[in-house]
Amino acid sequence: MTSPPESGRRANLLDYDLEGLAAFCASLGEKRFRATQLFRWIHQRGARDFDQMTDLAKSLRDKLKACATIEGLAVASRQESADGTIKWLFDVGGGNAVEAVYIPEADRATLCVSSQAGCAVGCRFCSTGHQGFSRNLTTGEIVAQLWYAEHHLREQLGTRERVISNVVMMGMGEPLQNYSALVPALRVMLDDHGYGLSRRRVTVSTSGVVPMMDRLAQDCPVALAVSLHAPGDALRDNLVPLNRKYPLAELLDACNRYLEHAPRDFITFEYCMLDGVNDQPEHARELIELVRHHAGRGVNCKLNLIPFNPFPQSGLTRSPHSRVAAFAALLSDAGIVTTVRKTRGDDIAAACGQLAGDVKDRTRVGERIARQRTVILKRAPAGAVAKES
Ligand code: SAH
Ligand code: SF4
Repeated sequence: MTSPPESGRRANLLDYDLEGLAAFCASLGEKRFRATQLFRWIHQRGARDFDQMTDLAKSLRDKLKACATIEGLAVASRQESADGTIKWLFDVGGGNAVEAVYIPEADRATLCVSSQAGCAVGCRFCSTGHQGFSRNLTTGEIVAQLWYAEHHLREQLGTRERVISNVVMMGMGEPLQNYSALVPALRVMLDDHGYGLSRRRVTVSTSGVVPMMDRLAQDCPVALAVSLHAPGDALRDNLVPLNRKYPLAELLDACNRYLEHAPRDFITFEYCMLDGVNDQPEHARELIELVRHHAGRGVNCKLNLIPFNPFPQSGLTRSPHSRVAAFAALLSDAGIVTTVRKTRGDDIAAACGQLAGDVKDRTRVGERIARQRTVILKRAPAGAVAKES
């Protein structure tokens, strides 16, 4: 139950899904339909202050002004790529900044949204992981990325129609390690009075936080992408350290449980192609075996191969195009729907895994990765051509 904020602290209405806003309105003695009106003003019309809300009584507007705000994020920078991709850097205070990326395509327009300032998982090939972890974003800070981008773009394009059709939680951070803020944010995206996005067009991407995958299936089943990156535990332990806690067998079982509730009948497996590390034919064969025969039934999935987007500290390189094509062909020939992700916005470092923002590492994840760098590549399975920087 939401109570009115203590004096001096105004509630940020971007923090609430419709239920939360209704509870907040109830605490002010206002009926539920007022919450719906407010919610629509904020998310559908992009209202920034209460005086814009002309169908609310002046007395209510004054009441709201006293105890609530609509507080977006400060834009620290905006970069536009030659291909139309736009990357915003948002200042979230305390020396931290996070990024969101708009990717227009012929048949859709996707916003890639961040969930944390930094990330504690510390994947070897990810720029955010190398930055370490500072803090979780609030629901309001997650929603504000979409709220800002959608209304800014409408203004820029001179339209009142919806611009963003898809959201992917593939920016900075591990969304399922910020679960309590994530779920209300997803609800705002899905709500017909909010952004009205279908569950199939909102994707949570996870490195495999198994218990939270189960909770998401119950609380808010949206499309799921799972960052696989390796066909066996030995290699995955090193690339995605969370694998030591939730190894592949448990992860794939969780995928199958998720599919019972998912809006799509497949999981998207993301696989970042790292030169000489996980891109050999034997890795493809092991991967086919895993996704087709795990627990005797496999997992209904699509494979999305992501050419590695390099960044200076990683010491890794992108697999050559021919090797990605050969890997994709082996998977396709085995009957697995496989796509190779187009790299967008790389002239502005907006591609997957390049989002670094500016994070104050409070957990020393960055240092840990730097120390492990040598060890990791030495442990790559036989046949992998380990590269050392
Ligand atoms: N933490 C979540 C979501 C954010 S990362 C996750 O890991 O799934 C979004 C996607 O970008 C993930 O699939 C991730 O593995 C991939 N990625 C990270 N760094 C990358 C890089 N340097 N090049 C290509 N893809 C990368
Ligand atoms: Fe975190 Fe995802 Fe990057 Fe891994 S790939 S460090 S989980 S943001």
